[in-house]
Amino acid sequence: MLTRVRSEPQRAKEHACQASLELKRAMRDVANEFLCPTFSTEQDWKLHLRSGIHREDASLTMAAFGERGGLNLGCHNSSVDLSAAVVKRAAIQQDAVFHSNPERRRVARSRKRPLWVMKFGGTSVGNASCIGRAVEIIRAATRDSNIVVVVSAMSGVTDRLIEAAVLSEAGDRQQVAIILEELSNQHEAVAGALIPSPAERSHISCKMQEVFREGDHLCQGTMLLRELTQRARDTISSLGERLSAPLVAAALVDRGVASEAIDATELVVTDSFLGAPEPLMEVTRERCEARLRPLLDKGIVPVVTGYIGATSEGVLTTLGRGGSDYSATILGAVLDANQIIIWTDVDGILTADPRFVSGACTIPEISYREAAELAHFGAKVLHPKTLGPLMQSDIPVWIRSTFAPERSGTKITPSGSPNGGGVKALTAISDVALITVGGPGIVGVRDVLGRTFMTTGAARADVLLVSQSSSQNDICFVVPSAVAKRTIEALRREFAQDLAHHNVEHITLNQSAAVVAVVGEKMQGTPGIVGRIFGALGLENINIIAIAQGSSACNIAFLVAKKDVQAALVTTHREFQLAS
Ligand code: ASP
Ligand code: MG
Repeated sequence: MLTRVRSEPQRAKEHACQASLELKRAMRDVANEFLCPTFSTEQDWKLHLRSGIHREDASLTMAAFGERGGLNLGCHNSSVDLSAAVVKRAAIQQDAVFHSNPERRRVARSRKRPLWVMKFGGTSVGNASCIGRAVEIIRAATRDSNIVVVVSAMSGVTDRLIEAAVLSEAGDRQQVAIILEELSNQHEAVAGALIPSPAERSHISCKMQEVFREGDHLCQGTMLLRELTQRARDTISSLGERLSAPLVAAALVDRGVASEAIDATELVVTDSFLGAPEPLMEVTRERCEARLRPLLDKGIVPVVTGYIGATSEGVLTTLGRGGSDYSATILGAVLDANQIIIWTDVDGILTADPRFVSGACTIPEISYREAAELAHFGAKVLHPKTLGPLMQSDIPVWIRSTFAPERSGTKITPSGSPNGGGVKALTAISDVALITVGGPGIVGVRDVLGRTFMTTGAARADVLLVSQSSSQNDICFVVPSAVAKRTIEALRREFAQDLAHHNVEHITLNQSAAVVAVVGEKMQGTPGIVGRIFGALGLENINIIAIAQGSSACNIAFLVAKKDVQAALVTTHREFQLAS
């Protein structure tokens, strides 16, 4: 395991930094008490302050306002009175803010206006008319609730940007220029169709051109180096969200909804494992409270870029493809939202992928765990990590279609539908690799299991399924194809000595299998389910390569050849009559 050893001075520096953060936070909370949502100008504030607030609070309030509003308040900003009374007051205030989770939730729920996070996926902001539809949905919701919007890039844009990044590494100057030109035209056309005011349109156009210039510089740099670094790849692929968020915000403003586009690099703080970063929830909470809450209190709808975050040093990171769902639940969790709605192009979570199973239908209510299993095992509707930030909460997540907003879609709740039980849904994931570490010699390598999974952990490879025979000849497990190369390389390094001495005979990769997962909260206590699955598959002559049950009680997963996936899904769907 990697343990980072920090030196004394480093630790002291971290403490000092933490203390100053805490003081800042406390000061902001004191200031918050006096912030009135309707004050938007410096003049309003001065009037308010003259009306008799104690000087120490006033200077803090002004300082906070200066910090938030970017106003140059001159001496006010620097003359913050840190007298003992203020510091004490700040400390009390600070304690009051750091409640336990349930307490914080209770306070959040007692707010006058509920808070909803609404995420719009790529197809839901895919062109001007889709954005128009999304804007109408947001506008209607603002009547009763405060709304934080999270947007993906317009559909297909991230793919094109990644293509440009890869072509830059190959030195294909011409193709890269064509892609950037096409994307620029596409976004300009959408701005033209959405925003009638010439002044607003030229403003947004300038912003977008700035983003394209940055993209162009990064591609040029990559072409020069002939190397696509993870940072450059992340930054280039983030441009789509940085274009769609200002477009959606401008369209909202045009329809009379006060709105501001916000780059999630200001909000979502992640660790620095480039390529697979994890969010740091507590710091993210502080950032969101400081940046979003004042906007919400003023009735402004923040439109936040999905998919991206930044390390605490400000290096942009991405949350993985399809990561805007994850952005939405990170924001929903830290802001203690009342609900999260993921607007997409399908009508909720279905019993199976309708492209494979014609009778697949929408599931009205499903549990966090069931939805997490389905997402983990390839149900495209949700990013695999979406439910992670909510596991300690009770925030409902809705999956709804912007193309059929009259339907209620699927509701994901902590415990799912009360009368549920048995098999709820099926999913399959073909984009996987089966890795086997084995050979007769591994019986004698006592720590082989530990070392294998330490290695997958260090490579941040999600292990989807593990199977091992009791004779211990082989350990086989499944990881997403995208991480197969780095996982197998890491394993070969880890077991280099053992391979040389034939204690471990082979570490192999099989890319021709797929995982099918059968998901349902109460399957564990229902005898006969496994028998029915494999009986039905046997009758259809479908061979099972490996099986795993019980990592979570609500999932049975098995491996079949890629060519058998559809037949396995159709057969299991029929066996459990999921279409009815
Ligand atoms: N735009 C990103 C992607 O295409 C993130 C997302 O859409 O959720 O992967
Ligand atoms: Mg998506």
